Amino acid sequence: MPEIQKSENGGGAKALPSHAKVVIIGGGVVGCSILFHLAKFGWKDAVLLERDELTSGSSWHAAGQIHTISSDPNISRLQGYTIDLYKEIEELSGHSVGLHMTGGFYLASNKTWYDYLKRERSKARYMGLSQEFISPQEVADRHPLIDPKHYIAALWDDQDGDLDPSGATYAFAKAAKVHGAQYFTHTPATKTIQRADGSWDVHTPRGTINAEHIVNCGGLWAREVGHMQGLNIPVQPMEHHYLLTEKIQAIADAPNRLPCGIDYEANIYFRQERDGLLLGTYEQRGTPWKVGGTPWDFGHELLQPNLEQIADRLEFAFERIPVLGEVGIRQAINGPFTFGPDGNPMIGPVPGMTNYWCAVGVMAGFCQGGGVGLTMAEWMIDGEPSIDVWAMDVARFGDWATPDWGTVKSTENYERRFVMTFPNETLPKGRLQKTTAIYDHLVAKGARMDQSSGLEHALWFANGPDDAHEAPSFERNRSHDYVAREVASVRADVGVIEVANFAKHEFKGPGARAYLDRILAGFIPKPGRVTLTPMLTEKGKLYGDLTVACYGAEHFMLFGSGTMQEAHRRWFERDLPADVHYRNVSEDWHGLALSGPKSRAVLAELTREDVSAAGFAFRDTKMTYVAGVPVILTRISFSGELGYEIYCKPQYLRRLTEAVELAGADQGLRWYGARALMSMRLEKGWGAWGLDFRPDFTAAEAGLDGFINWNKEFVGKTAAQAVRQPAKRLVTLTLEVEGIDVSNDEAILHNGAAVGYISSGGYAHHVGRSMAMGYVPTQLSAGGQRLEVEILGHMYSAEVQSAPLYDPEGLKMRS
Ligand SMILES: Cc1cc2nc3c(=O)[nH]c(=O)nc-3n(C[C@H](O)[C@H](O)[C@H](O)COP(=O)(O)OP(=O)(O)OC[C@H]3O[C@@H](n4cnc5c(N)ncnc54)[C@H](O)[C@@H]3O)c2cc1C
Repeated sequence: MPEIQKSENGGGAKALPSHAKVVIIGGGVVGCSILFHLAKFGWKDAVLLERDELTSGSSWHAAGQIHTISSDPNISRLQGYTIDLYKEIEELSGHSVGLHMTGGFYLASNKTWYDYLKRERSKARYMGLSQEFISPQEVADRHPLIDPKHYIAALWDDQDGDLDPSGATYAFAKAAKVHGAQYFTHTPATKTIQRADGSWDVHTPRGTINAEHIVNCGGLWAREVGHMQGLNIPVQPMEHHYLLTEKIQAIADAPNRLPCGIDYEANIYFRQERDGLLLGTYEQRGTPWKVGGTPWDFGHELLQPNLEQIADRLEFAFERIPVLGEVGIRQAINGPFTFGPDGNPMIGPVPGMTNYWCAVGVMAGFCQGGGVGLTMAEWMIDGEPSIDVWAMDVARFGDWATPDWGTVKSTENYERRFVMTFPNETLPKGRLQKTTAIYDHLVAKGARMDQSSGLEHALWFANGPDDAHEAPSFERNRSHDYVAREVASVRADVGVIEVANFAKHEFKGPGARAYLDRILAGFIPKPGRVTLTPMLTEKGKLYGDLTVACYGAEHFMLFGSGTMQEAHRRWFERDLPADVHYRNVSEDWHGLALSGPKSRAVLAELTREDVSAAGFAFRDTKMTYVAGVPVILTRISFSGELGYEIYCKPQYLRRLTEAVELAGADQGLRWYGARALMSMRLEKGWGAWGLDFRPDFTAAEAGLDGFINWNKEFVGKTAAQAVRQPAKRLVTLTLEVEGIDVSNDEAILHNGAAVGYISSGGYAHHVGRSMAMGYVPTQLSAGGQRLEVEILGHMYSAEVQSAPLYDPEGLKMRS
């Protein structure tokens, strides 16, 4: 529990108000940015509480380097926004942010990193960010202290630079004050208690504020602020080193400030600091700090440096920036900052709570703080962010993301900050967090597993456990032929895939049908049937593509994206009528899907139901028995074949599996994994949630408007009606490539100009084509349109397809 340290109000002479629209807990760069954006966009009645002085967490000792590169394109966009914002807040507040827009480079010392940078360049192309390749000699021209012989190229970005972290934080706070908000220093929040009306009482030693909303921006204390509410946030502060050198004469004599840089292979970042250099590194073996909790009395302190920990990195640095070996170290900084399990922030309304928001785990607060503030303010004031921020949404983690798991994954992420993660790579730490009853069985069959939302699932099947390996790569790898074998089995005979990782949401009660009719844009089926439906936000953006099933007048199930399940739960719970009972039952229903022309024959052996074409038609569903266990049986398919999904309670999965394998043995049944499924849906031209379908797009843009029931009122209807003739559309492309496929986010070009981007793709094994999906301007979306796609710096010819390459009439799945 924090104790009050001084009693004066560092943010102005006013007394603590008794009420506010929002109380933000934490005056680091993130809290101050949110305060600024809320006030700027009209919520002037916003109050920030800081337990000490502003910047009393990790913000004051940051290295202050800023750049736009991020694994997620929308985070890159928001980083660009953040950097552009500094001038505005400096002018408004009158407080210097110490900004130096020097530009910066990302150095490639080998082909792998060069390939990585080519991918980044391609992303930047369609995002309109200014990045260009420069030669090693140009690197040396711009930064004479670097030895160019170690590099093959560098990506230059004008928008890189550095700033004064403390100055930037104060500038946000003071600019917020100009817009009418208030902040109070030396005012720790000691308790947060929710009233029956949903508002919050925030207790401080200086009095209590009642607020409609509270925001946890506790930074290094995010976990402790969460605990006040019984909330376990899976973030972990990590120790981090950077060094400041003595004066370097060449820098003192240089006419201009040197650019900043990142050398991935050496795992170092660097920039000019006064007349010397600042050099930072992410240790190969990271040190989690205060695993048990951050002490409340930790303040403006630094940790004991451990230079041995970074000795191997320093050797690289001395080799590549030789002057470093000649000057002394003025100061070694070791300070903690907070990481999340996947390295991205965790922001937004916390699922399962009302009016409780968080913006925590922001590990690059000076690159991302402005964008986080913008997004949070939009979300709070408008009800939804203006762009898809799934990569930062706190709802991507659920109960399974425990504090222990958070520490393990956050440490892994810290260590991999400058380590390549390839598109096909599965990360080793924190595995087996959740497994199904057939995990060991699938591994014994040769499954190469990955983790999604904490749950293990099969990517592809090798010839046995010893064979289930693949090298991380941007190109096709040895799994290619195994996936081809799985696809061939499904298309010719029958395949089985585990489907535990789909989300299942149950709705019961007299108001269930009316409620679903309002929140889903599509048709609500009658009992025994399923329909596909988009779910839209008020602004007409996609918020789900769901299968809705009806089992009685008052009983419905929704099946959808497993990773979105907490976000969807949050969505459903926010205004649930009293006569609707909702539960996220994803963990209650595991299961298998059978796909292929012989799947009916396999199923027929396992059930007393009439599963003939007439007896159990396409999109029929029922609660029945298969293999002697109770199941939800649905005739539906994401592979494009005749297919069935069979969901059972987890305790029956093993029994069901044994029976399916036995019945399928004579039919050529083969296990298949997520990669084969993604390959088959490509040749059907079907988009996938999180890739092709996301809140960045409307139903019309995504081609899902055909599923909308326009003859009813539903959430997002007005907005959706206004954009029925969209300016861009999702298209399916075939590509003329050799041995390589897209791996998402590549630029699509027309006449040399970037006109769109790839949302997903890969190899379509049955039709034998490299394929992709992506968004392009409507005038370029007609079948036969020739375009180009940039993969690892090469332009490949692409053609828009007007119909699915496999079974365009959909006869097979209806057979
Ligand atoms: C050595 C080092 C180098 C870094 N270099 C960079 C860099 O080059 N570029 C970059 O972008 N980022 C860098 N960072 C990361 C950056 O510092 C963080 O991302 C950023 O500080 C996070 O800000 P925050 O507001 O989330 O958290 P914090 O700065 O930790 O702020 C949280 C605030 O909440 C207050 N608080 C906590 N509990 C309470 C309570 N109960 N009541 C009231 N107040 C409370 C704390 O006192 C604190 O002031 C670096 C970090 C370190 C340590």
